[in-house]
Amino acid sequence: MTHIDDLPVRDELRGKSPYGAPQLDVAVRLNTNENPYPLPEPLVARIAERVADAARTLNRYPDRDAVELRTELARYLTRTTGHEVTYEQVWAANGSNEVLQQLLQAFGGPGRTALGFEPSYSMHPLLARGTNTGWVSAPRKDDFSLDVPGAVEAIRTHRPSVVFITSPNNPTGNAVAREDVLALYEAAGRDAMVIVDEAYTEFSHGASLLELIEGRPNLVVSRTMSKAFGAAGLRLGYLAADPAVVDAVQLVRLPYHLSAVNQATALAALEYTDTLLQYVEQLKAERDRVVEELKGLGFDVTVADANFIQFGVFDDPHAVWRFILDRGVLIRDNGVPGRLRMSVGTPEENDAFLDAAREVKKEFG
Ligand code: PMP
Repeated sequence: MTHIDDLPVRDELRGKSPYGAPQLDVAVRLNTNENPYPLPEPLVARIAERVADAARTLNRYPDRDAVELRTELARYLTRTTGHEVTYEQVWAANGSNEVLQQLLQAFGGPGRTALGFEPSYSMHPLLARGTNTGWVSAPRKDDFSLDVPGAVEAIRTHRPSVVFITSPNNPTGNAVAREDVLALYEAAGRDAMVIVDEAYTEFSHGASLLELIEGRPNLVVSRTMSKAFGAAGLRLGYLAADPAVVDAVQLVRLPYHLSAVNQATALAALEYTDTLLQYVEQLKAERDRVVEELKGLGFDVTVADANFIQFGVFDDPHAVWRFILDRGVLIRDNGVPGRLRMSVGTPEENDAFLDAAREVKKEFG
Protein backbone atom coordinates (compact mmCIF):
# COMPACT_ATOMS: atom_id res chain seq x y z
CA MET A 1 0.00 0.00 0.00
CA THR A 2 1.26 3.46 -0.84
CA HIS A 3 1.75 5.65 2.22
CA ILE A 4 1.38 9.43 2.17
CA ASP A 5 5.11 9.74 2.87
CA ASP A 6 5.86 7.80 -0.33
CA LEU A 7 4.41 10.74 -2.26
CA PRO A 8 6.30 13.98 -2.95
CA VAL A 9 4.13 15.74 -0.37
CA ARG A 10 5.35 19.11 1.00
CA ASP A 11 7.88 18.67 3.82
CA GLU A 12 5.81 20.61 6.33
CA LEU A 13 2.86 18.22 5.82
CA ARG A 14 4.84 15.03 6.49
CA GLY A 15 3.76 13.11 9.57
CA LYS A 16 0.84 15.49 10.25
CA SER A 17 -2.82 14.58 10.91
CA PRO A 18 -5.87 16.28 9.37
CA TYR A 19 -8.47 18.18 11.44
CA GLY A 20 -10.81 15.66 12.97
CA ALA A 21 -13.34 15.80 15.77
CA PRO A 22 -14.56 12.20 16.27
CA GLN A 23 -17.86 11.67 14.38
CA LEU A 24 -19.31 8.83 16.50
CA ASP A 25 -22.79 7.36 16.31
CA VAL A 26 -23.99 8.34 19.79
CA ALA A 27 -27.50 9.33 20.97
CA VAL A 28 -26.46 12.72 22.36
CA ARG A 29 -23.80 14.55 20.37
CA LEU A 30 -22.53 17.66 22.10
CA ASN A 31 -19.04 17.78 20.66
CA THR A 32 -18.77 20.16 17.70
CA ASN A 33 -20.63 23.28 18.84
CA GLU A 34 -23.42 22.72 16.35
CA ASN A 35 -26.85 24.22 16.82
CA PRO A 36 -29.08 21.32 18.01
CA TYR A 37 -32.21 22.70 16.35
CA PRO A 38 -32.93 21.66 12.75
CA LEU A 39 -34.06 24.48 10.44
CA PRO A 40 -37.81 25.14 10.75
CA GLU A 41 -39.99 23.51 8.06
CA PRO A 42 -41.16 26.79 6.43
CA LEU A 43 -37.50 27.70 5.92
CA VAL A 44 -36.77 24.24 4.49
CA ALA A 45 -39.59 24.87 1.96
CA ARG A 46 -38.23 28.34 1.16
CA ILE A 47 -34.75 26.88 0.56
CA ALA A 48 -36.27 24.35 -1.85
CA GLU A 49 -38.00 27.19 -3.68
CA ARG A 50 -34.93 29.40 -3.95
CA VAL A 51 -32.70 26.48 -4.92
CA ALA A 52 -35.20 25.47 -7.64
CA ASP A 53 -34.94 29.00 -9.01
CA ALA A 54 -31.17 28.82 -8.96
CA ALA A 55 -31.29 25.40 -10.65
CA ARG A 56 -32.96 26.94 -13.69
CA THR A 57 -29.72 28.80 -14.47
CA LEU A 58 -27.16 26.25 -13.30
CA ASN A 59 -25.85 26.06 -16.86
CA ARG A 60 -24.33 29.47 -16.08
CA TYR A 61 -21.64 30.28 -13.52
CA PRO A 62 -22.96 31.90 -10.33
CA ASP A 63 -22.58 35.58 -9.45
CA ARG A 64 -18.83 35.57 -8.83
CA ASP A 65 -19.06 38.48 -6.43
CA ALA A 66 -22.22 37.24 -4.63
CA VAL A 67 -23.51 40.81 -4.45
CA GLU A 68 -27.09 40.00 -3.41
CA LEU A 69 -25.88 37.72 -0.63
CA ARG A 70 -23.27 40.19 0.59
CA THR A 71 -25.93 42.92 0.59
CA GLU A 72 -28.21 40.79 2.79
CA LEU A 73 -25.34 39.85 5.11
CA ALA A 74 -24.46 43.55 5.43
CA ARG A 75 -28.11 44.27 6.24
CA TYR A 76 -28.06 41.54 8.92
CA LEU A 77 -24.90 42.99 10.49
CA THR A 78 -26.32 46.52 10.41
CA ARG A 79 -29.56 45.39 12.03
CA THR A 80 -28.01 43.31 14.78
CA THR A 81 -25.07 45.53 15.71
CA GLY A 82 -26.58 48.96 15.08
CA HIS A 83 -23.48 49.77 13.06
CA GLU A 84 -23.96 50.61 9.38
CA VAL A 85 -22.22 48.04 7.16
CA THR A 86 -22.28 48.07 3.35
CA TYR A 87 -21.86 45.15 0.96
CA GLU A 88 -18.48 46.51 -0.12
CA GLN A 89 -17.28 45.80 3.43
CA VAL A 90 -18.53 42.20 3.37
CA TRP A 91 -17.07 39.11 1.74
CA ALA A 92 -18.50 35.56 1.82
CA ALA A 93 -17.06 32.08 1.28
CA ASN A 94 -17.70 28.39 2.03
CA GLY A 95 -17.65 28.57 5.81
CA SER A 96 -15.55 30.95 7.84
CA ASN A 97 -12.78 28.36 7.49
CA GLU A 98 -12.52 29.37 3.83
CA VAL A 99 -12.71 33.05 4.73
CA LEU A 100 -9.79 32.56 7.15
CA GLN A 101 -7.88 30.55 4.56
CA GLN A 102 -8.33 33.31 1.97
CA LEU A 103 -7.11 35.88 4.51
CA LEU A 104 -3.99 33.80 5.16
CA GLN A 105 -3.45 33.34 1.42
CA ALA A 106 -3.63 37.11 0.97
CA PHE A 107 -1.79 38.27 4.10
CA GLY A 108 0.26 35.25 5.27
CA GLY A 109 2.37 32.89 3.19
CA PRO A 110 6.03 31.84 3.03
CA GLY A 111 8.33 33.97 5.17
CA ARG A 112 5.40 35.38 7.14
CA THR A 113 4.01 34.47 10.55
CA ALA A 114 0.56 34.24 12.11
CA LEU A 115 0.13 34.51 15.87
CA GLY A 116 -2.67 33.15 18.04
CA PHE A 117 -3.42 32.85 21.74
CA GLU A 118 -3.84 29.20 22.64
CA PRO A 119 -5.80 27.26 23.60
CA SER A 120 -7.94 28.51 20.73
CA TYR A 121 -9.57 27.27 17.53
CA SER A 122 -7.39 24.42 16.27
CA MET A 123 -7.95 25.30 12.60
CA HIS A 124 -6.03 28.59 12.89
CA PRO A 125 -2.60 26.87 13.03
CA LEU A 126 -3.73 24.24 10.49
CA LEU A 127 -4.76 26.94 8.01
CA ALA A 128 -1.42 28.63 8.63
CA ARG A 129 0.36 25.38 7.87
CA GLY A 130 -1.69 24.82 4.69
CA THR A 131 -0.80 28.28 3.40
CA ASN A 132 2.87 27.91 4.37
CA THR A 133 2.54 30.63 6.99
CA GLY A 134 4.67 30.29 10.14
CA TRP A 135 2.76 29.84 13.41
CA VAL A 136 3.52 31.33 16.80
CA SER A 137 1.45 30.64 19.87
CA ALA A 138 1.26 32.99 22.84
CA PRO A 139 -0.18 31.80 26.17
CA ARG A 140 -3.31 32.94 28.01
CA LYS A 141 -3.76 33.59 31.72
CA ASP A 142 -4.84 30.77 34.06
CA ASP A 143 -8.49 31.84 33.72
CA PHE A 144 -8.06 31.62 29.89
CA SER A 145 -8.48 35.36 29.38
CA LEU A 146 -5.91 37.19 27.24
CA ASP A 147 -2.69 38.19 28.95
CA VAL A 148 -2.56 41.61 27.30
CA PRO A 149 0.97 42.69 28.32
CA GLY A 150 2.23 39.21 27.35
CA ALA A 151 0.33 39.40 24.06
CA VAL A 152 1.75 42.84 23.23
CA GLU A 153 5.22 41.53 24.05
CA ALA A 154 4.70 38.49 21.77
CA ILE A 155 3.54 40.75 18.93
CA ARG A 156 6.59 43.01 19.35
CA THR A 157 8.93 40.01 19.42
CA HIS A 158 7.53 38.03 16.49
CA ARG A 159 6.21 40.85 14.27
CA PRO A 160 3.42 38.64 12.86
CA SER A 161 1.62 39.45 9.60
CA VAL A 162 -1.63 38.03 11.00
CA VAL A 163 -2.95 38.03 14.58
CA PHE A 164 -5.93 35.83 15.47
CA ILE A 165 -8.22 36.90 18.31
CA THR A 166 -11.16 34.54 18.85
CA SER A 167 -14.08 36.11 20.69
CA PRO A 168 -15.84 34.28 22.27
CA ASN A 169 -12.88 31.93 22.25
CA ASN A 170 -13.21 28.29 21.27
CA PRO A 171 -12.75 26.00 23.23
CA THR A 172 -12.59 28.06 26.43
CA GLY A 173 -15.80 30.09 25.87
CA ASN A 174 -14.78 33.54 27.12
CA ALA A 175 -15.12 36.75 25.09
CA VAL A 176 -12.36 39.34 24.63
CA ALA A 177 -12.83 42.90 25.85
CA ARG A 178 -12.98 45.73 23.32
CA GLU A 179 -10.03 47.56 24.91
CA ASP A 180 -7.89 44.40 24.75
CA VAL A 181 -8.52 44.11 21.00
CA LEU A 182 -7.61 47.77 20.60
CA ALA A 183 -4.37 47.29 22.57
CA LEU A 184 -3.37 44.38 20.34
CA TYR A 185 -4.35 46.29 17.20
CA GLU A 186 -2.09 49.16 18.23
CA ALA A 187 0.78 46.78 18.99
CA ALA A 188 0.37 44.93 15.67
CA GLY A 189 0.72 48.12 13.63
CA ARG A 190 0.10 48.59 9.91
CA ASP A 191 2.24 45.59 8.90
CA ALA A 192 -0.23 43.11 10.37
CA MET A 193 -3.85 42.14 9.91
CA VAL A 194 -5.79 41.51 13.12
CA ILE A 195 -8.55 38.95 12.59
CA VAL A 196 -11.29 38.82 15.20
CA ASP A 197 -12.96 35.42 14.79
CA GLU A 198 -16.52 36.02 15.95
CA ALA A 199 -17.96 32.62 14.98
CA TYR A 200 -19.97 32.54 18.24
CA THR A 201 -20.67 36.21 18.85
CA GLU A 202 -24.48 35.94 18.61
CA PHE A 203 -24.37 33.83 21.81
CA SER A 204 -22.29 36.35 23.74
CA HIS A 205 -23.51 38.54 26.60
CA GLY A 206 -21.37 41.34 25.18
CA ALA A 207 -21.47 43.37 22.00
CA SER A 208 -19.84 42.40 18.71
CA LEU A 209 -16.52 44.11 17.97
CA LEU A 210 -17.73 44.89 14.47
CA GLU A 211 -17.92 48.66 14.96
CA LEU A 212 -14.14 48.65 15.48
CA ILE A 213 -13.57 48.11 11.73
CA GLU A 214 -14.42 51.78 11.09
CA GLY A 215 -11.18 53.66 10.48
CA ARG A 216 -9.11 50.51 11.14
CA PRO A 217 -8.25 49.00 7.74
CA ASN A 218 -6.09 46.28 9.32
CA LEU A 219 -8.95 44.84 11.38
CA VAL A 220 -11.17 42.04 10.08
CA VAL A 221 -14.21 40.52 11.78
CA SER A 222 -15.00 36.97 10.69
CA ARG A 223 -18.48 35.45 11.08
CA THR A 224 -20.38 32.31 10.16
CA MET A 225 -23.89 31.00 9.54
CA SER A 226 -22.82 27.61 11.00
CA LYS A 227 -23.73 28.39 14.61
CA ALA A 228 -26.36 31.09 15.22
CA PHE A 229 -28.17 30.36 11.94
CA GLY A 230 -28.06 26.62 12.66
CA ALA A 231 -26.66 25.99 9.20
CA ALA A 232 -23.31 24.22 9.66
CA GLY A 233 -24.13 21.99 6.68
CA LEU A 234 -24.66 25.00 4.42
CA ARG A 235 -21.00 26.15 4.56
CA LEU A 236 -21.36 29.89 4.61
CA GLY A 237 -18.95 32.20 6.38
CA TYR A 238 -18.28 35.89 5.86
CA LEU A 239 -16.14 38.78 6.95
CA ALA A 240 -16.63 42.48 7.53
CA ALA A 241 -13.71 44.84 7.04
CA ASP A 242 -12.50 47.79 5.04
CA PRO A 243 -13.41 47.36 1.32
CA ALA A 244 -9.66 47.14 0.57
CA VAL A 245 -9.55 43.84 2.50
CA VAL A 246 -12.38 42.55 0.30
CA ASP A 247 -10.31 43.57 -2.75
CA ALA A 248 -7.31 41.68 -1.32
CA VAL A 249 -9.13 38.37 -0.75
CA GLN A 250 -10.48 38.56 -4.30
CA LEU A 251 -6.88 38.19 -5.49
CA VAL A 252 -6.70 34.67 -4.03
CA ARG A 253 -10.25 33.31 -4.10
CA LEU A 254 -11.14 30.70 -6.70
CA PRO A 255 -13.41 32.09 -9.42
CA TYR A 256 -17.05 31.21 -8.67
CA HIS A 257 -16.05 29.70 -5.30
CA LEU A 258 -19.54 30.16 -3.86
CA SER A 259 -22.04 28.01 -5.77
CA ALA A 260 -25.41 29.36 -6.89
CA VAL A 261 -27.08 26.68 -4.72
CA ASN A 262 -25.11 27.82 -1.70
CA GLN A 263 -25.93 31.50 -2.31
CA ALA A 264 -29.64 30.71 -2.77
CA THR A 265 -29.74 28.66 0.44
CA ALA A 266 -27.99 31.34 2.48
CA LEU A 267 -30.37 34.01 1.14
CA ALA A 268 -33.35 31.88 2.19
CA ALA A 269 -31.89 31.43 5.69
CA LEU A 270 -31.34 35.18 5.99
CA GLU A 271 -35.07 35.73 5.31
CA TYR A 272 -35.68 33.74 8.53
CA THR A 273 -33.18 35.61 10.69
CA ASP A 274 -35.72 36.53 13.38
CA THR A 275 -36.94 32.96 13.80
CA LEU A 276 -33.42 31.59 13.91
CA LEU A 277 -32.29 34.17 16.45
CA GLN A 278 -35.08 32.99 18.77
CA TYR A 279 -33.30 29.61 18.93
CA VAL A 280 -30.16 31.50 19.89
CA GLU A 281 -32.05 33.02 22.84
CA GLN A 282 -33.21 29.55 23.93
CA LEU A 283 -29.66 28.22 23.68
CA LYS A 284 -28.30 31.12 25.72
CA ALA A 285 -30.85 30.43 28.48
CA GLU A 286 -29.97 26.72 28.39
CA ARG A 287 -26.26 27.53 28.53
CA ASP A 288 -26.77 29.68 31.60
CA ARG A 289 -28.82 26.90 33.22
CA VAL A 290 -26.16 24.24 32.54
CA VAL A 291 -23.42 26.58 33.84
CA GLU A 292 -25.32 27.06 37.10
CA GLU A 293 -25.97 23.32 37.47
CA LEU A 294 -22.32 22.48 36.82
CA LYS A 295 -21.19 25.06 39.34
CA GLY A 296 -23.73 23.69 41.82
CA LEU A 297 -22.16 20.25 41.37
CA GLY A 298 -18.80 21.75 42.25
CA PHE A 299 -17.17 21.87 38.81
CA ASP A 300 -14.89 24.70 37.83
CA VAL A 301 -16.58 26.43 34.88
CA THR A 302 -14.81 28.90 32.58
CA VAL A 303 -16.78 32.08 31.75
CA ALA A 304 -19.20 30.82 29.08
CA ASP A 305 -20.12 33.34 26.39
CA ALA A 306 -20.75 30.99 23.46
CA ASN A 307 -22.94 27.93 22.79
CA PHE A 308 -20.53 25.64 24.66
CA ILE A 309 -19.11 25.30 28.14
CA GLN A 310 -15.60 24.43 29.29
CA PHE A 311 -15.49 22.72 32.66
CA GLY A 312 -13.13 20.76 34.92
CA VAL A 313 -10.83 20.34 36.70
CA PHE A 314 -9.87 16.68 36.10
CA ASP A 315 -6.64 14.77 36.70
CA ASP A 316 -7.42 12.66 33.63
CA PRO A 317 -9.86 14.52 31.34
CA HIS A 318 -9.75 11.76 28.75
CA ALA A 319 -10.95 9.17 31.28
CA VAL A 320 -13.84 11.49 32.19
CA TRP A 321 -14.62 12.05 28.48
CA ARG A 322 -14.76 8.26 27.99
CA PHE A 323 -16.92 7.81 31.14
CA ILE A 324 -19.45 10.36 29.79
CA LEU A 325 -19.35 8.74 26.33
CA ASP A 326 -20.14 5.36 27.94
CA ARG A 327 -23.33 7.03 29.19
CA GLY A 328 -24.34 7.91 25.62
CA VAL A 329 -23.17 11.53 25.60
CA LEU A 330 -20.37 12.64 23.28
CA ILE A 331 -18.55 15.79 24.38
CA ARG A 332 -15.07 17.06 23.41
CA ASP A 333 -11.61 16.61 24.81
CA ASN A 334 -9.77 19.49 23.17
CA GLY A 335 -6.52 18.66 24.91
CA VAL A 336 -6.80 21.63 27.28
CA PRO A 337 -5.13 20.40 30.48
CA GLY A 338 -7.73 19.35 33.09
CA ARG A 339 -10.75 20.50 31.05
CA LEU A 340 -13.49 19.23 28.78
CA ARG A 341 -15.98 21.08 26.57
CA MET A 342 -19.67 20.40 26.02
CA SER A 343 -21.79 22.07 23.32
CA VAL A 344 -25.18 23.25 24.55
CA GLY A 345 -27.97 21.09 23.13
CA THR A 346 -31.72 20.84 23.55
CA PRO A 347 -33.02 20.80 27.16
CA GLU A 348 -33.31 16.98 26.99
CA GLU A 349 -29.77 16.58 25.67
CA ASN A 350 -28.43 18.90 28.34
CA ASP A 351 -30.29 16.91 31.02
CA ALA A 352 -28.67 13.70 29.72
CA PHE A 353 -25.30 15.43 29.96
CA LEU A 354 -26.01 16.72 33.47
CA ASP A 355 -27.03 13.22 34.62
CA ALA A 356 -23.67 11.97 33.38
CA ALA A 357 -21.90 14.91 35.05
CA ARG A 358 -23.51 13.97 38.39
CA GLU A 359 -22.12 10.46 38.00
CA VAL A 360 -18.71 11.93 37.16
CA LYS A 361 -18.75 13.73 40.51
CA LYS A 362 -19.47 10.48 42.33
CA GLU A 363 -16.88 8.48 40.40
CA PHE A 364 -14.04 11.00 40.09
CA GLY A 365 -14.77 13.37 42.98
N1 PMP B 1 -14.01 29.86 13.99
C1 PMP B 1 -14.23 29.21 15.13
C2 PMP B 1 -13.76 29.83 16.40
C3 PMP B 1 -14.89 27.97 15.13
O1 PMP B 1 -15.08 27.32 16.29
C4 PMP B 1 -15.34 27.43 13.90
C5 PMP B 1 -16.08 26.11 13.80
N2 PMP B 1 -15.99 25.22 14.79
C6 PMP B 1 -15.05 28.14 12.74
C7 PMP B 1 -14.41 29.35 12.81
C8 PMP B 1 -15.39 27.61 11.38
O2 PMP B 1 -16.71 27.54 11.14
P1 PMP B 1 -17.33 27.40 9.68
O3 PMP B 1 -16.23 27.07 8.72
O4 PMP B 1 -18.34 26.33 9.81
O5 PMP B 1 -17.91 28.75 9.40
